[in-house]
Parts: sequence; C-alpha cells; structure tokens
Amino acid sequence: MLRSIRVRLTLWYVVMLAAILAAFSAGVYLALRANLYSNLNDSLDSKAAAIGAAVQDGGGRPQLTPDAAPPDPDGEQFVRLFDASGALVFDNSTVEAGVLPDSDAVTAAAEGATDRRTESVSGDDVRILTVPVYRDGSVFAIAQVGKSEGDVHDTLRTLLLIIAAAYPLTLGLASAGGVFLAGRALGPIGRVTTMARRLSAEDLNQRIEADLPDDEVGRLVTTFNEMIARLDAAFRRQRQFTADASHELRTPLTAIKGQTEVALQQERSAEGYRDVLRAVNSQADRMIRLVGSLLTLARADSGGAALTLEQVDLGKLLADAADQIASATAAAKQIEVRVSGGPEVHLSADEDLLLQLVLNLLDNAVKYSPPGASVTISWAAEDGDAVVRVSDTGPGIAPEHLKHIFDRFYRVEESRASETAGFGLGLSISRWIAEAHGGTLAAESLPGSGSTFTLRIPLERRSDSS
Ligand code: ADP
Repeated sequence: MLRSIRVRLTLWYVVMLAAILAAFSAGVYLALRANLYSNLNDSLDSKAAAIGAAVQDGGGRPQLTPDAAPPDPDGEQFVRLFDASGALVFDNSTVEAGVLPDSDAVTAAAEGATDRRTESVSGDDVRILTVPVYRDGSVFAIAQVGKSEGDVHDTLRTLLLIIAAAYPLTLGLASAGGVFLAGRALGPIGRVTTMARRLSAEDLNQRIEADLPDDEVGRLVTTFNEMIARLDAAFRRQRQFTADASHELRTPLTAIKGQTEVALQQERSAEGYRDVLRAVNSQADRMIRLVGSLLTLARADSGGAALTLEQVDLGKLLADAADQIASATAAAKQIEVRVSGGPEVHLSADEDLLLQLVLNLLDNAVKYSPPGASVTISWAAEDGDAVVRVSDTGPGIAPEHLKHIFDRFYRVEESRASETAGFGLGLSISRWIAEAHGGTLAAESLPGSGSTFTLRIPLERRSDSS
C-alpha cells in the first residue's frame, strides 16, 4: 500500500491536516476561554463599582438599601458589604449552601488591596471580587461581589462538544477529498505506465498517446516520447548499418566465390591460376579496407576511444599526405596535388588519425576528379583554430547529395557505379576524427566547379572534447 504515491500523499495530507486542525481548535478554545473570563471579571468590576457608589453612611457604619442589590432569584450572584473592621453588614447571597465570607480576602481589602479568587461551592465555581470602598481617603467599607462561572463553563463545554464532533468529521471529509484529488492528479501516470509497458524494442515506432495538458505529467510523457524517438532512430541506424555492412561484404565474397568456382571447373595454366589469385587478392584487399573502416567506426561508436595526442607539425603532415597521394593515385591520373604554403602551425593531435583524415579527403579529391584536374591543400591558423582546406576542380557535389555525404555508407549514385567505388564510409570516419579532436569538418561544393572540404581543429584543446 505504501508503495503507492496516492496513499502516501493522502496519509501525509491527513496527518498534516489533523495537526493543523488540532492547533486551530486549541487556539479557538483558549481564545474564547480568555475572553469569557475577562468578560466575567469586567462585569464583577462594574458591579463592585456600582455597589461602592451605592454605599450610604448610617451614622459611621456603612449601609446598603436592599433595592441597591436585590436578591438574585437564580442564586448565581451575590453582593456583600462589610464595615471597615470586617463585620458583615449586608448579604443578599442565596447561592446554594452559600459562600462563607472569606476573612483573608476581607482583611486584605481592609488594608486597601483588591482580591480576586474562585471558590468552589457544591460543584459550582464562583468568581469572587473583594474591593475596599473609600470615604474621605480611608477605607470605609468593603464590597464583595460574586458570580457563578457556570455560564462560562457551559459555553466552553458546548464548544468542546462542537470541536469533538466536527474534528473527525472534517478530517474524514478532507481525507476523502485528498484521496480523490491525488487520484485525479496521478491517474494519467497509471495510464502512461500501462502504455509504456506495451512498448517493446521491436515496436519503437509507437508513442504514448495521451492527450495531456502541458503540466508535469504532460511534460514527462513528451520527454518519454522524445526518448523513444531517439532510441528508435538509434536502433534504425544500427539495423541499417548492419544491413549495409553485410551487403558490402557480400559483394567481394560473391566475386571471390564466382571466380574460384569458374577456375575450378577445368584445368588451367599457371598464368590462368595467377589471374584468379590476383583477382581474389584484390577482393581480399577490398574486404580488409572495409573491415578496417568498420573497426574505426565501432571505435568511434564506443565513445571511449582515447586519442594518442602528440605535438604535430601541420605543414609537414600535409606535405607527407600530398606525397603519398601523388605517388599512389594522383600521378597515374595526371592530377597535380599542390600544397600552398602556410604559417608554421603546431597542434596537439593524434597524428595517425589526422593523417588518415587528410588522406581520405585527398583520396576523394583525386578519385572523383577527371584526369588533368588539380587538387590544392592549404592551411592557416584562424580564430584559435588550425584550418585545413582541400579543394579540387572536380565535378562537385549536387546540393541534394551534399547534405548526406557524411552519412555512413552514403555514396552519390554515379560514384557507386564506378569501378573505383569506395564504401561511403570515408567521410563519416573523417568527420568523427575531426569531432574527436574537438573540431569540425564541412564541405562546400557547387556542381561543375569543384568541392572544398574545410577542417577546423582548436589549437588549444578544450577539456570537454576528447
Ligand atoms: P567513398 O568511400 O565512396 O568515397 P566518402 O564517404 O568518402 O565515401 O564520400 C561519400 C560520397 O561523397 C562519395 O560517394 C562521393 O560521391 C562524394 N564525394 C566525396 N568527396 C568528393 C569530391 N571531392 N568530389 C566529388 N564528390 C565527392
């Protein structure tokens, strides 16, 4: 039961409400009690003052005419008068069993003190006020007035009864309200849980459909849906990646299988076998390259790939890369690779990865440009970044392709068909290398007027990029 927020919320609410109600009731009771007693004292004060004024001088002794203080038929109040020596001269008390004149109070009043006390008379409390009455500056008489506290007690008892009845009733009603409100507020969560339970990894295109307002629960559901969408996209990419990788591996394997099968069908010359072996060898090369790329991407995806950082002389690295490309492919295609000088730039980078990135860009530039074209590498230090630009005068890339060329396995249609076809992984690996260094890799291209790839790597490595 306590594992339900609804129950816990209600319990907390009820406990707090019980404490607040108890404090409130106690406050009302005490305030009313103080007020009633103060009223009682006030009325005794004014009665004593009236009696003091009605006292007459009967030849040196104080006197009170009976109509100044007629007997109270209910016997709830009384008036007494004493002379200065403390002898009783008037008493209209009919209070049952009577309150005996209190000599302490009278003696105190004879000395000029005002005395208030409560006496218990056969189970009823009586409040008694004893005051001196002055004539010519000295105590002439002592007036004593008393009033039953019965009314005060009755009123307080009634209030207690009301509180005793209303307290559990209010608490009960408020608790029921609390249960209802908590249920209403938390209801959508139950529905969301049921729906979320129905989602499975295979079924990530589903979303939680609850028409909720933009409140806490509504936002939770939106966040949840966004998370599922991201997971969905990640799973899709993963599936696509596996499918693409399998497809790419199957092509050279099918070629090997076809060539060896044909070769085995009949006896061949040594040269014939060598031809087949050469073809198999070149397909094996292709597979090695593919598997190498896949391993690099797996390393990128695992996120934990640590770079081996060292101080790299950028100009030297670019010149080396240009030499490699020139001797490997460019010369054969009569493509000139120009390195246009830049300032001396040293940066902290993983030299092997950086070289791989630049070689990828150069390789593409040479691969996709027609014979006789030219490729230019330039570098600079701009705004705290080392900037490398690789431009070619090749065919360029149409805008609809340009936005996808960094996607894995993405190849522009024409290059897909060509003999030199890559796997469409080079640029995505290059971009990962740039980002792993805290930098960026971007492409600009207009069909027909060549392409420029721009790499930016911060010279000062920021601590958050790894
Ligand atoms: P690939 O291994 O196929 O070269 P990349 O990821 O390196 O894969 O490149 C993706 C696609 O971008 C290529 O198929 C090609 O069509 C296009 N591309 C890349 N570089 C250039 C370039 N310099 N000029 C024209 N097209 C290019």
